[in-house]
Amino acid sequence: MSASADESKPSNFLRHIIERDLAEGTYAQRHFAGTPGDAAHHAAAPLDPARIRTRFPPEPNGYLHIGHAKSITLNFGLAAEYAGVCHMRFDDTNPEKEEQEYVDSILDAVQWLGFSWRANGVDHLYYASNYFDFMYRAAEALIQAGHAYVDEQSAEQMRATRGDFVTPGTNSPYRDRAPAENLARLREMRDGKHPDGAMVLRAKIDMASPNINLRDPAIYRIKHAEHHNTGNRWCIYPMYTYAHPIEDALEQITHSVCTLEFEDQRPFYDWLLDTLATLGLLAQPRPHQYEFARLNVTYVITSKRKLKQLVDERHVDGWDDPRMPTIVGLRRRGFTPESLRLMCERAGTSKAGGWTDYASLEVALRDDLEGRAARAMAVLDPLRLELTNWAEVFGSASTEPCHAPAHPHRPELGERRFSLGPALWIERDDFAEVPPKGFFRLFPGNKVRLKYGVVVECTGCEKDASGAVTAVHAKVIPDTKSGTPGADAVKVKGTITWVGVHDALPAELRLYDRLFKDPQPDAGGRDFLQSLNPHSKKVARGYVEPSLAGAKPDDKFQFERHGYFVADRHDHAAGAPVFNRTATLKDSWGK
Ligand code: ATP
Ligand code: MG
Repeated sequence: MSASADESKPSNFLRHIIERDLAEGTYAQRHFAGTPGDAAHHAAAPLDPARIRTRFPPEPNGYLHIGHAKSITLNFGLAAEYAGVCHMRFDDTNPEKEEQEYVDSILDAVQWLGFSWRANGVDHLYYASNYFDFMYRAAEALIQAGHAYVDEQSAEQMRATRGDFVTPGTNSPYRDRAPAENLARLREMRDGKHPDGAMVLRAKIDMASPNINLRDPAIYRIKHAEHHNTGNRWCIYPMYTYAHPIEDALEQITHSVCTLEFEDQRPFYDWLLDTLATLGLLAQPRPHQYEFARLNVTYVITSKRKLKQLVDERHVDGWDDPRMPTIVGLRRRGFTPESLRLMCERAGTSKAGGWTDYASLEVALRDDLEGRAARAMAVLDPLRLELTNWAEVFGSASTEPCHAPAHPHRPELGERRFSLGPALWIERDDFAEVPPKGFFRLFPGNKVRLKYGVVVECTGCEKDASGAVTAVHAKVIPDTKSGTPGADAVKVKGTITWVGVHDALPAELRLYDRLFKDPQPDAGGRDFLQSLNPHSKKVARGYVEPSLAGAKPDDKFQFERHGYFVADRHDHAAGAPVFNRTATLKDSWGK
């Protein structure tokens, strides 16, 4: 059982809005045809069995990151909580940047996080590009009703006449063209009669509006470009601000949740959907947009464009490099879906922006795995320990069997087996020839317990020509084997972990640190590449206990004293184990 299951969910302003809408029956009379469509399509259908509809609408132009996990958790979570449905929608209205690779990875990420767009046997998986026909039809309707016009001014002219925060804009000379003329121009645009940038279709609202987004925003532009879904059918494409509200309305979304940067677009969202509903094209009641502050995580970049740059310029080993904040990267690093959902839930949902500490990801991981990850011993930086009186204590036996619980509080998970032998691997820093103050581990004359094994007393060490320690010597104290009567008679202050030279498995251990040195690597338009941490990946050759011989890719463990590790999903193999450190046992960040 994961930690997230019993955690009660804190309330937030979106839950209040939804609860109010449910109490007032705002959407109770809404119809839904089972598929997206216009007003007539839905009007003929029964009442919508879903109490609310939300959506997760990524643009398939990159891999999803931790910020998207927040949006996914929020949108799918709200739908699940209020007996609603969340649609998975690709916002693929931009012809140039989108690729199937991204579509596949996004679908995979949402499912891996534990969510589904399937409800009552229906897959609510949609592509905004399938709505191009309706969007065009709506554009013609806006023209005919006098709500849109084709502007032939240059981009510079349009910019110059838009005004600014203190100055109202001025009307375009094309603004009062008759609908028939606008319609003819739009059809020429559609039919490929004009080059890119020659003209745009603009909504006709108010050039003096205090909200610059209402000063006749462009809604269609010419772009002679092939689209991954519609091919060469279109050479005009809708602007995002025009497309998005229509996508929501066709799908009968009730609560359209987005990040704060779209707040200024909400008046246009409302204008467009009200206007198209009045014209009879879209169903009512229409969707409403609500904004929340995006998730920012320290030491992390959440911009697909910048993450792509890290990949393209090979600062990392790919989209799924375990240092990447992408879902595939976090997954490969060893984060669980439960831990990511828990972290997103704890980060809260509000209107006030802020930064979430990277450590909260690790805290969530520990909370999730502490109760369920199998334990194991591993030595990351090996030093040989020779037990010099082995034959006196154990006679002719070459090894002495030991066992330990797979999990200290869950006996049902069974036991691990390994053995002591005359030579062991211990951590290099568990020995000090001259102990610093407060050091309770191995130094000449001191006794420690080998965890699950025996008490040993250090007698000295061997060194090479350069003075580096190459082996530690110790003698076994008889009758101290863990679990045998009287084993605790010899008191020690230190316990160390170890593996047997005879039965440990050599392993590659990838130790990751933060990818950036600064908590806000791209704040204030700074060049985030300057902040890259050159020591973010360290590869150690160590040893793990033999119980890990059966570990499979993605299996997660707590290496005692060291932290949580995962068998690498790409490179781990039975004969050649590779483990990634997901997180240490305690917060060591910034220390
Ligand atoms: P990017 O700038 O990284 O490309 P985006 O917002 O353009 O991100 P989209 O594919 O448009 O990416 O995002 C899909 C959804 O995820 C949107 O609703 C968006 O608001 C949301 N989202 C993106 N980043 C975050 C974030 N950091 N926190 C919360 N939600 C986010
Ligand atoms: Mg975007």
